Amino acid sequence: MLANADILGGLARGDRRMLARAITLVESSNPDHRRQAADLLDQLPVPQQNSIRLGLSGTPGVGKSTFIESFGMHLLSRGHRVAVLAVDPSSGRTGGSILGDKTRMDLLSREDKAYIRPSPSGGFLGGVARHTRDAILLVEAAGYDVVLVETVGVGQSETAVAQLTDLFLLLLAPGGGDELQGIKRGIMELADIVIVNKADGDLLPAAERAVADHASALRLMKPRFKNWQAEVCKLSGLTGLGVPELWDKVTRATSALRQSGEFDQQRERQNLHAFRSELEAGIAHMLLSNPSVRADVMKLEAEVAGGLRKPASAVLEALGLIGFGPKA
Ligand code: GDP
Repeated sequence: MLANADILGGLARGDRRMLARAITLVESSNPDHRRQAADLLDQLPVPQQNSIRLGLSGTPGVGKSTFIESFGMHLLSRGHRVAVLAVDPSSGRTGGSILGDKTRMDLLSREDKAYIRPSPSGGFLGGVARHTRDAILLVEAAGYDVVLVETVGVGQSETAVAQLTDLFLLLLAPGGGDELQGIKRGIMELADIVIVNKADGDLLPAAERAVADHASALRLMKPRFKNWQAEVCKLSGLTGLGVPELWDKVTRATSALRQSGEFDQQRERQNLHAFRSELEAGIAHMLLSNPSVRADVMKLEAEVAGGLRKPASAVLEALGLIGFGPKA
């Protein structure tokens, strides 16, 4: 493995191969790599305050890769450097990565100022979210100032992505009321900008109706921020219609949130959330990594499952196994 000083030098130069190796390092579960990764992350330059982290979700087929290609190319033309990362909760099960596949974004992947990283394979959602959080810091250190974090619409992964990003974009297919019924309310509530995609050709009238429908649905939702009310727009990833307007919306939203302080507050909350969830994962790891403690925890689990023990006392006993139990 490379030394951190070399990796840091590479990131500062915007060296893409070094960036890829750094991301591989933070994704590793090897204990030595984890320590090195933690040191590396600590030594990164202070994060760019002007970076914009965007979450993006939509069901398969809604046009995410076409959209990212078109949106990404627009951002490059405006002088930005764009990184695309993926949170794919299914990759752990299938072993392959579905999202972030380079062949899906042909034009963008050939651009020097764009960086596309396939989703980390393996692991549960919490682990994938952690790797992605670290990867965001690394791509920012390598000079990418707009980071898109893409996920498929399965509910849980959206919440994880919203914890990692400044604004959440939801991509929907044109379609009226029926479509509206199918979207989980929880996901709509996360959205800061709803994009009705495929607003072209025969689909344009349906897209326009969908914009009106979603706009009225959003008015009934509790806003996520004081200074930004979710908006809907129409767009075509294929023709590029609405792409510049979407970027204007994103910059309007981030300026409004920076002005009210909500932008920084949200990042602070996210940092704290990251610390707490890693701490929980760390404690769980301590419990399970020692074979005899692990056997005792599994015994407690069986007792809890069978109703012989209540979770509360079992937790205290489990913590006692690693020296954090109640005083005798
Ligand atoms: P993903 O699965 O969400 O990444 O969706 P893709 O970008 O792969 O697109 C799925 C299908 O929708 C493909 O056949 C695309 O050609 C088509 N598609 C994507 N964007 C648009 C669009 O803006 N307009 C139209 N009409 N079709 C689109």
